[in-house]
Amino acid sequence: QVKNREVEALMRKALPKRSVQILHDLGNTGDILDLAVYAVGGFVRDLLLGQENADVDVTVDGDGILFAETFAASHGCRVKSHEKFGTAVIVFPDGFKIDVASTRLEYYVSPGALPTVERSSLKMDLYRRDFTVNTLAISLNAPSFGKLIDYFGAYRDLQAKVIRVLHNLSFVEDPTRVFRAIRFEQRLGFKIAKHTEDLIKTAVKMDFLVKLGGRRLLSELVQILKEKEPINGICRMASLGLLRFIHPGLELTPELQGTLEEVRYVVSWFDLLYLERPYERWAVYFLALCERLTQEQFLDTCTRLAVSEHYRERLAEMRRQGDELVGPMERKLARGEQVENSEIYFTLRGLPVEILLYQMAKSGSSEVKRCISLYFTKLHGTRPLLKGEDLKQLGVKPGPLFREVLDVVLSARLNGKVSSKEDETALVRNLLS
Ligand code: ATP
Repeated sequence: QVKNREVEALMRKALPKRSVQILHDLGNTGDILDLAVYAVGGFVRDLLLGQENADVDVTVDGDGILFAETFAASHGCRVKSHEKFGTAVIVFPDGFKIDVASTRLEYYVSPGALPTVERSSLKMDLYRRDFTVNTLAISLNAPSFGKLIDYFGAYRDLQAKVIRVLHNLSFVEDPTRVFRAIRFEQRLGFKIAKHTEDLIKTAVKMDFLVKLGGRRLLSELVQILKEKEPINGICRMASLGLLRFIHPGLELTPELQGTLEEVRYVVSWFDLLYLERPYERWAVYFLALCERLTQEQFLDTCTRLAVSEHYRERLAEMRRQGDELVGPMERKLARGEQVENSEIYFTLRGLPVEILLYQMAKSGSSEVKRCISLYFTKLHGTRPLLKGEDLKQLGVKPGPLFREVLDVVLSARLNGKVSSKEDETALVRNLLS
């Protein structure tokens, strides 16, 4: 039995002071309204593992919306409430959020559908969760602050590092849990319990995952691909036979494994180089995963995953452009021909980071990798020293010619043919004459 003060000590160790204070304040609001308040779910799981989880989920034994509004009024926060679900989000002035739910029983009208909600007890609320490790609650009311509530052996499973469902119909009820099991297993370094794994295999054999809506499938896949080490998750999906539910043509071949390892290498190189540059890392893994698919199969996959038409076309276009643009460069390099910096620049300019990283990972040629890396590190940010104003003074008339002249100057700069503003001016004069 974990003591209240041990939980409090964990909070002080793993959470910022402010978060601990907010937990106390939530409990105090519960005391005023005479409602029991609990922190629940992933937040508690991670806390007991000594980690902070910024998503604070709170469950109130009663009206969650009233609770959220009362708390918000005395703490200068806003509330966004969802009457239908009895849930609310408390938003602090700095954007920090707390999700508030009322104890409730969600049941599923059909597998893969969104749940219908009714009110129930805390125990029933926790029983409807995916895995035992997510069923812990901590009481926040002042008299019992820090009391750990463990109805389903969650603490034991946390210590044994296992992911276990609460009942045999769990995956039938909601097949997304199959993917969630893999995600938690890989992220936490846990193991899916034997019986739970058998239930996954049964669900796969009986094709329960076919009923899973595209959006939910996409969301789970993206979350796996967003994990720190997505390859383990992909391997696990493959070994459990899940890839065919995304597309029957998907298969984890040794070549694909090789490309995925290259993606891992390339994205960590890129992240080290450009700490702050935003890009969709998961999309690079996704493109690699779909490597063997034809363009038509790729479009089918996007349709299965309910990717919006606009984004689907964009992804397909990126895939095509990548091959069309990088392919010729690769062949030229393979023939031992020289590729100038300006050619690299004008070939790769306009391609999104995701496709460039994917091309870098997938290319077997170290020369292509070198060209793309050179593009990122040196060529990408290169600009002529001459500005539009300078060109006007040199007598270039604004219009299409302007762009052309600037591109010639840029090419010369990229290829090291000019280095100063005087060089560039001389080049433009030469061009004009
Ligand atoms: P993460 O750190 O990835 O956000 P989390 O545990 O907070 O992990 P969420 O997806 O935010 O996960 O879900 C919050 C809680 O809701 C989980 O702890 C889990 O108990 C419950 N939950 C989420 N999805 C399901 C599901 N499909 N079936 C049952 N319970 C679920």
